Amino acid sequence: MPSSASFDVLVVGSGASGLAAAVAAERAGARVALATKTTLQACNSAKAQGGIQAAFGADDSPEIHAEDVMRSSHETADSRLVTVLTSEAPSAIHWLEELGVEFTRQNGGYRLARCGGATRHRLLQVGDRTGHAITKALREDYEAGGGTELPHHALESVEPGENGWRATFQTKDAIVEVEARSVVLAAGGRCYLEAEQRGELSTNHPNATGEVTRIALEAGAEARDLDALQYHPNGGAWPSTMQGYSIPETTRAYGAVLLNADGEEFTDSLGARDAVSQAIFDEVEKGKGVSTPDGRPAVWLDTTRIALEDAEISLPYMLRRYRGAGIDPLETPIYTYPVLHYQNGGLVIDEHAETTLEGVFACGEIAGGTHGRNRMMGNSLLECTVFGRRAGRAAAERARS
Ligand SMILES: Cc1cc2nc3c(=O)[nH]c(=O)nc-3n(C[C@H](O)[C@H](O)[C@H](O)COP(=O)(O)OP(=O)(O)OC[C@H]3O[C@@H](n4cnc5c(N)ncnc54)[C@H](O)[C@@H]3O)c2cc1C
Repeated sequence: MPSSASFDVLVVGSGASGLAAAVAAERAGARVALATKTTLQACNSAKAQGGIQAAFGADDSPEIHAEDVMRSSHETADSRLVTVLTSEAPSAIHWLEELGVEFTRQNGGYRLARCGGATRHRLLQVGDRTGHAITKALREDYEAGGGTELPHHALESVEPGENGWRATFQTKDAIVEVEARSVVLAAGGRCYLEAEQRGELSTNHPNATGEVTRIALEAGAEARDLDALQYHPNGGAWPSTMQGYSIPETTRAYGAVLLNADGEEFTDSLGARDAVSQAIFDEVEKGKGVSTPDGRPAVWLDTTRIALEDAEISLPYMLRRYRGAGIDPLETPIYTYPVLHYQNGGLVIDEHAETTLEGVFACGEIAGGTHGRNRMMGNSLLECTVFGRRAGRAAAERARS
């Protein structure tokens, strides 16, 4: 017989969305368990460098932010979810600050960059380790509270239980059952596994394998746009140690442009992600790309156009990585090619992050609708915070009812 324990709220996954849900549920007074496949630190969220969007600019508003999301998604996003995302973005930023995240500031306000597909400067950053800063703050808050941590618990199934739901986990040496009044699924996307199966490079953490989506579908949940996977336009292509590295899109926000073999700009470097990736594929297809020293297709990202001050404030980690590999991006353009990056679609949710299964919530990359079939950069960390917080609160509320 598997051993079992019982909680008000069970959160599965310890990326930004799961941590936000666990913190919010705990603060709402629930007895929370946070289960995750390996360590609490292992996730995609901590790898996110670029930043997080929120309309703070004097010329910006949640409505303009929402218009940018809808346009970038080619009008496929769920406008109810988009309204929640963009209108709660400023308060989500303040919530993260209250938890200890220190966003980079300039001239008395936030340092805001314009990212691909955006009509305004809206991207907040913590240097170029934004995801690391957010997950660290959330994790430390959760660890300081009374919630239970269940590392090395890989979810195997979810089914209706006596008082809500029963989840079965594989641990290092046993099968464990956890009963909970409500469950928050926050186990991320599947691009690591998908890239491995296609023989391609991916930016993702090895835990991004997508089995929790399958588990939810088997339990009867509905999903949308699961076929819509996103390429990051700027995967590192050379040197070999940088292959699969996601060159922050803030390089382009701060002036870097894409060039073909003839040194010509062939696309709007601040276009929507899918458009920029497709333009690179097309340029290479036309024979106007370049080849890396190990024969991979690529184009140039001319990073020499970035001002030294911008690079030092907003791209220090990227500079360190490249310089450590013997290339200075401020001296020479770098090789780039799109890499598999993000699962746009996922489980269908409502404004409170509840799936089509009562008492089962979903947030972060595992959920669909907020970005439609094409996500803008900087809106995933935002989605994790906004809908993670909503999921945690709603799951705690459900557990009380
Ligand atoms: C390199 C990189 C750079 C990025 N840059 C940005 C950026 O600048 N801005 C932005 O907004 N977004 C960015 N993104 C996207 C964004 O970071 C992610 O989409 C988002 O953080 C996903 O968060 P999550 O909580 O949904 O999932 P994750 O952070 O992937 O966490 C999923 C968690 O679930 C666990 N898990 C998986 N399977 C199971 C299982 N069977 N049982 C139990 N636990 C399980 C994992 O171990 C992990 O802890 C970037 C992504 C990458 C990879």
